[in-house]
Amino acid sequence: MNMLIHNATGILTGLRGDAARSTGSVRIRNGRIAEMGNLSPLPDETLLDARGGVITPGLVSTHHHLFQTMLKAVPTAINKPLEPWLRLVPNTYWNRIDERALGVAARVGMVELLLSGCTTVADHHYLFSELYPYNPADVLFDTARNLGLRYVLARGGTTQARKFDTDEIIPAPTEPLDVMLRRVDDLVRRYHDPSPTSMTRIVLAPNTPTWGATPTELREMAAAARGMGIFLHSHLSETTNYVKFCLETYGMRPLQFVAEHDWVGPDVWFAHLVHMDESEIALMAQTGTGMAHCPQSNCRLGSGIAPAPALDACGGRVSLAVDGAASNEACDMGAEMHCAWMIHRAVQGADAVTAEDVVRWSTSSGASILGYPELGSVEVGKIADLVVHRLDSPRHAGLHDPLIAPVVSGAASVRHVLVGGRPVVVDGAIPGLDLERLLEDARTVVGCLDSTGP
Ligand SMILES: [Zn+2]
Repeated sequence: MNMLIHNATGILTGLRGDAARSTGSVRIRNGRIAEMGNLSPLPDETLLDARGGVITPGLVSTHHHLFQTMLKAVPTAINKPLEPWLRLVPNTYWNRIDERALGVAARVGMVELLLSGCTTVADHHYLFSELYPYNPADVLFDTARNLGLRYVLARGGTTQARKFDTDEIIPAPTEPLDVMLRRVDDLVRRYHDPSPTSMTRIVLAPNTPTWGATPTELREMAAAARGMGIFLHSHLSETTNYVKFCLETYGMRPLQFVAEHDWVGPDVWFAHLVHMDESEIALMAQTGTGMAHCPQSNCRLGSGIAPAPALDACGGRVSLAVDGAASNEACDMGAEMHCAWMIHRAVQGADAVTAEDVVRWSTSSGASILGYPELGSVEVGKIADLVVHRLDSPRHAGLHDPLIAPVVSGAASVRHVLVGGRPVVVDGAIPGLDLERLLEDARTVVGCLDSTGP
C-alpha cells in the first residue's frame, strides 16, 4: 500500500542527538519510507491524517513471556520477590496451560502490545514439554501472523531442574541438551527468516546461564546457535541472588562468567542486568552485548533499578521490554517508556535520562539488538513500521513540547500502527478483532487455571 502520513505535529525518529526530532510528512512505498518532508499527496496513495499527533517508529519489546498474560495478579504472589514468585506463579501454573490458554494469553498480550504501539516482540517461551499434546511454537507464530506483529521466538528451556524452597510443585520441563538443540534446529528450519523484513525469527534462549545449564553446555549452546545463524538470549543478574550464586559457585560475577563461556557479543542480549558492577557494564559495552531493560517488572518484584543510563553513556546497547505480564500486570510499551523515563530520574536526578533516550532504546536500539538494522527509525529507506500517537485527551492538553508526550504523559495513547506499511491498528482499534469475545475468553481461561489445581 502506498501511503502519505501527513499533518503530524512532529516526528520522534528513534535516532540520537539533533536527529531525534523531525517534522513533515512521511511517504511510504512498498513497505518502506520513501520520502520525508514537505510533501503533496500523489494520486495513487492513501492519505493517513495524523493531525495533532506524533509519529514514532514502531516500538520493539525485547523480552516477554506471552504465556504469562493469563497469570496477572496471582494473589499468593502479589507481594513476593522473584524466587517465591517464580514458584507460586509460572512454576505452579505451567502444567495447566493448555493450547486454548496459551492461544488466549498470546492473543491478549499481542493485542495489548499492538495497541501500545509495539510492532516487534521477542517472546522468551520456555515451556516445551512432552506432556503437551500441542506445539507451543505453532500457537505463538499463528497468533502473531493473524495480528500482523513481528514475532521473535526466543526458544527457552533448561537442562537442569530448578530447586525451589518447597517440593509441592510439579517440576517444569527439562530436556537433554542434544534434544533441545535438535528441537531448536527444527524450529529454525520451519520459522527462522534472517531477511531484514522478516516477520518470524528463532533465538536460542535457555532460562538462565547460571541455573539453567552446565558451563560446558553453555559453550555448546553458543556454538550451536552461531552454527545455525541465530542469536542468543537469556535472563541475567535480575536479583542479588544471581550474583551471589555465581560468585560462590564459579568465583566470578555473572557477566565475567557468561563471557568465559562465549555468551557475549552483538548476537547476545540479556534481560534485566539489574545488578552489574562497573567492570560488567564496561564488558557489555566492549562486546556489544545487549540489555533488555524491564523497569516495570523490576519494580513489581522489588529487584532494583538496572544501570541502563550508565550502559548507554559508555556506548553500550540498551533496549526496553515489558517482560511477562505476570510480573508487570500489563504488556504496555507506553507505560514501560514512562517508567523508564521516571525511575532513573528518581535516583540519579532529573537529567539522568531524556524522553528521546527512552524512544531510542524502545525503537532503533531494540531493533538493532534483535538483528533488524533496517527497522526502528523514521528515516528514508527504512522499513515502515510506524506509530501515530494521538494527543487529543485531557492529559495532553497544555503541553508546551507535545513531541515528547508518548513518553512523558504516561500510558500508551496510540491511534494508528503500521507494520511494513500495512495498517494493523486503525483509529485505536485492530480491524476484525472481536475484543469483547477475547476478554470473555480470557475470563474463562483464568477460571479454568484457578479451578484445575495440580
Ligand atoms: Zn523474563
